[in-house]
Amino acid sequence: MSDPIGPFDMLEPEPSRPLLDRGREPGATRALARGLVRRCPRCGGRDLFERRLRIRERCPGCGLRLEREEGGFLGAMTLNYLATTLAWGGFLAVWLVVALPGVAIAPLTVASLAFVAVFPLLFYPLSKTLWAAVDYLVVRSSPDYRERDAAERRSGNGGPR
Ligand SMILES: [Zn+2]
Repeated sequence: MSDPIGPFDMLEPEPSRPLLDRGREPGATRALARGLVRRCPRCGGRDLFERRLRIRERCPGCGLRLEREEGGFLGAMTLNYLATTLAWGGFLAVWLVVALPGVAIAPLTVASLAFVAVFPLLFYPLSKTLWAAVDYLVVRSSPDYRERDAAERRSGNGGPR
């Protein structure tokens, strides 16, 4: 004997769009956390950089495109600028707490210039992987993400699974 028809069984069926495989795709927090530690936001793989300041086009583990398009570096640059500004604000606050009331402007200026010259270089790889995580989350929210991802893999651009 079959189950009786429930009140929701007559509603429209689910759209044909395949649901995200939550077992394979990480949540937003995990993807961003992976970006913060220079790992692939999708698979958590390492070795995303050809050189210290040069990110690979795709993740060697899952094939996720890390540099999406021409000009895609603007997002990473903005993140780097934001992080540098926030970090320098913290640096300045600590300096002032330590030095007040007699703040010497010249050493503070020299130290600040050195800070804003070095910090962005150190943060640059993180800004790239963080931006790759943001980009991944945006692309993943697209309704045709699964189809496009599968097509890219079939075309040989997806890298090894
Ligand atoms: Zn990956």
